[in-house]
Amino acid sequence: MEPRALARGLVLGASAAIAGAGVMTYAVRGRSSSLLAPSVYKGVNTRRSIALTFDDGPSESTPELLEVLDRHRAAATFFQCGANVRRLPQVAREVAFAGHEIGNHSDTHPYLCFKAARFILDQLTRAQESIAESTGLTPTLFRAPYGVRWFGLREAQQRLGLLGVMWTTIGVDWKWTPQQAASHLDRRARNGSIFCLHDGRTIDPRPDIGVTIRAVKQLLPLLIDKGYRFERVSDIICPMI
Ligand SMILES: [Zn+2]
Repeated sequence: MEPRALARGLVLGASAAIAGAGVMTYAVRGRSSSLLAPSVYKGVNTRRSIALTFDDGPSESTPELLEVLDRHRAAATFFQCGANVRRLPQVAREVAFAGHEIGNHSDTHPYLCFKAARFILDQLTRAQESIAESTGLTPTLFRAPYGVRWFGLREAQQRLGLLGVMWTTIGVDWKWTPQQAASHLDRRARNGSIFCLHDGRTIDPRPDIGVTIRAVKQLLPLLIDKGYRFERVSDIICPMI
């Protein structure tokens, strides 16, 4: 090949690789991406409602969070890990009895990228079974650990009847102060927002979720003052109610 043509070929190849990498990053992590599996990241904007979601539970401190939600009559959605449900089945039940929705957040909270389809299906299936056994509820929603999707997830979700749920805004409650998390979410509140917070830390026992609880205590009165109600994810994505 003539040197100039070779150089042009290399440049074109490199651009395609970069564009490909961009598409892959979006497919795997993009909040609005459904490329690897069907997924939603916001609810309908016709109601003044917000969906609070809590990942990585249940944990030893989840009951304290349930009290705060109850005080404000706020419904929420808890994306639970199967391993945590087996450690704390009674807490998982308390979440269900309080009327909150329970979603699947995998069994042991692994990154799903570069994993085999069989591994992904096992992760979702084991969590689904543990949640159903402990709470009597079979989840219809799935949140990918770290928001990372991969090949094989579409088929696993389909087989278990799960819809993926990302988020509109994350509270960064594992890093920020309660004030920072609460004001970040308060500023970004819109009709149909899905907020992501945590009542656990992957599958660590006895995680410290004090920041989350204090952030929710500050945030709920602010949002209620602005006229927002709190809906479970299944309700907020449904335009019929
Ligand atoms: Zn998580």
